Amino acid sequence: MKNQKNKHFETEAVRIQTDRTKFSEHSTPLYLTSGFVFEDSEEMRAAFAEEKQRDLYSRYSNPNTSEFITKMCALEGAEDGFAFATGMAAVYSTFAALLNAGDHIVSCRSVFGATHALFTKYFPKWNINTTYFTTTEEEKLEELIQPNTKLIYVETPTNPGVDVLDLEKISKVAKKHGILFVVDNCFATPYLQNPIKFGADLVIHSATKLIDGQGRVLGGVTVGTADLIREIYLFSRVTGPAMSPFNAWVLSKSLETLAVRADRHCENALKLAEFLEIHSKVNWVKYPFLPSHPRYEVAKKQMKLGGSIVAFEVKGGVDAGKKFFDSIEMCSLSANLGDTRTIVTHPASTTHSKLAAEDKEAVGITDGMVRCSVGLEYVEDIIKDVDQALTGI
Ligand SMILES: *Cc1c(COP(=O)(O)O)cnc(C)c1O
Repeated sequence: MKNQKNKHFETEAVRIQTDRTKFSEHSTPLYLTSGFVFEDSEEMRAAFAEEKQRDLYSRYSNPNTSEFITKMCALEGAEDGFAFATGMAAVYSTFAALLNAGDHIVSCRSVFGATHALFTKYFPKWNINTTYFTTTEEEKLEELIQPNTKLIYVETPTNPGVDVLDLEKISKVAKKHGILFVVDNCFATPYLQNPIKFGADLVIHSATKLIDGQGRVLGGVTVGTADLIREIYLFSRVTGPAMSPFNAWVLSKSLETLAVRADRHCENALKLAEFLEIHSKVNWVKYPFLPSHPRYEVAKKQMKLGGSIVAFEVKGGVDAGKKFFDSIEMCSLSANLGDTRTIVTHPASTTHSKLAAEDKEAVGITDGMVRCSVGLEYVEDIIKDVDQALTGI
């Protein structure tokens, strides 16, 4: 693996590459192989004893997944990582590798739906319990720490409320109590935010979202300190959630264009947010880089740009929200995010419809709230579609 130790994100993302084969290919080939061969018994023994780093079996490692991991580590400023089949495989395996029965988690309330299900439905089976704090309770975080608290977990910006949590402040609390700090950095991507710089021990991504950015493959990755990744690697080697070489090959290529894509996503998102802020059919807009965002200063401190997600509330509640969706012409009604195509969702009638009223409030969802994952279409076309749908309410 050639790491040229370039300082800049764009150069690292483009240039880090696994060693070329005898064919001197420019683009990394796809290594669709389940296993790797050995010259003799001694070589095989040494490989199994981990005396030499080499590929052995693709459940453990593969040149394509290693290339993707090396790139992600460079982009996040991490020592090591492991790549998973999906974002949820990364989330689950990270917890499962590091936690013991009886451990306690402190997490922000606004977490991805499946992560919430792990915390509330599955982890309690192993006596691992979670205490939530809402974004407005960040100051009270320390009071939630118990003697058995093993880690603090956050997502920022949050889904779907686009709230922002202060990574530096939270990491200080974690350090003070000697507990792990784990960040799901999916909404920001490594281009916009590097939680390790602010004290995180581990960073998780669903690569399915902006890292692929084109709605093609699923993937996940956890990066961080070498000792923690070693635990996660040993667990994953046995349990088998590894990313496929094909997906790693796609995602390594996707990383080469992440910076230019993210720049345009963010530029379009900010323009849409500014347009919505003065629209007569809109009650409020939330976007981290709008000065009206309650945590604007924190967002400016820890993020390079505001991200691709804009949340806003249409006037008129659930009915107006549904009408807005039925009037949308170009933007897609879909559950994904971070795609080249602009996607709108109505959490109150879809993804979060089963939540009790107070839970909706805790995660920042109101009846007329719309989440827009702003894509790479010409921005005036996105604005025109949203505007005509708002006019139709
Ligand atoms: C989508 C998502 C996940 C899960 O990722 P999958 O690749 O769908 O398994 C986890 N966290 C966040 C914040 C997400 O948006």
